[in-house]
Amino acid sequence: MAVNAVSYRIPRNDVAVPVILLGAPGAGKGTQAKRIAARYGIPQISTGDILRENIVRNTELGQKARSVMERGELVPDDLVLPMVADRLSQLDCAQGFILDGFPRTVRQAEWLDEFLRNCSLGGQTIPPVVVSINVGYNQLLQRLTGRRSCPVDQKIYNIYLQPPKSDCVCDLCGTQLVQRKDDREEVIAERLQSYQRQTLPLVEYYRRQGRLREINGELAADQVAAETFAAIQESAASAAAGGA
Ligand code: AMP
Repeated sequence: MAVNAVSYRIPRNDVAVPVILLGAPGAGKGTQAKRIAARYGIPQISTGDILRENIVRNTELGQKARSVMERGELVPDDLVLPMVADRLSQLDCAQGFILDGFPRTVRQAEWLDEFLRNCSLGGQTIPPVVVSINVGYNQLLQRLTGRRSCPVDQKIYNIYLQPPKSDCVCDLCGTQLVQRKDDREEVIAERLQSYQRQTLPLVEYYRRQGRLREINGELAADQVAAETFAAIQESAASAAAGGA
């Protein structure tokens, strides 16, 4: 597949680099991605969200992805890679981006490495910062089975950990909360297994490259965010200075 070139710029007083968030489903990648996006002014690119939008719009991609996603399996690369290439080539990614849910396999990571090798700053390649958010199995189960969201304003709740004020309706607009189809217990098991099998090897892949930063995702969300910002700052400073 053709790899498009994108160029990144590091603003003088801040950092802007590609950020990859790794972590099991329910680890809090989406929450942290939103905070990083707000802090650095770079877009959050969630492959799961893009796929779900395609399902809602009933596009050809959405029609092909729907049943695979409902089973909790990974959508094939021939659908996901062009979708990611297209998104990363958009102008708003020129100062960096946060990948949330991609890469999911070593093959996707190798593809991304090649894609990013073609992205340069004055001839200098900017390696992504890879942050792994680690959460134990029982905590993940509770987060996933309890997750509900408001279909109107997208606010996310957890019926065990962060329940709405009154019975399963949104605090902000009163709309009935919904559960993602793939957050049902039988699908969660498949998603967590697919993570163990296909995505966990990525941690080793990035560790070997010396790019992995690991964060305890069971800490309070503010603390996870603070540690994530510090990891990004440190890696970006080292990249700007010509390090790995
Ligand atoms: P997420 O919202 O990240 O939990 O993703 C929801 C579902 O979208 C996954 O269970 C997969 O079916 C699909 N998906 C998201 N990202 C990818 C990816 N990088 N590769 C393949 N399938 C993906």
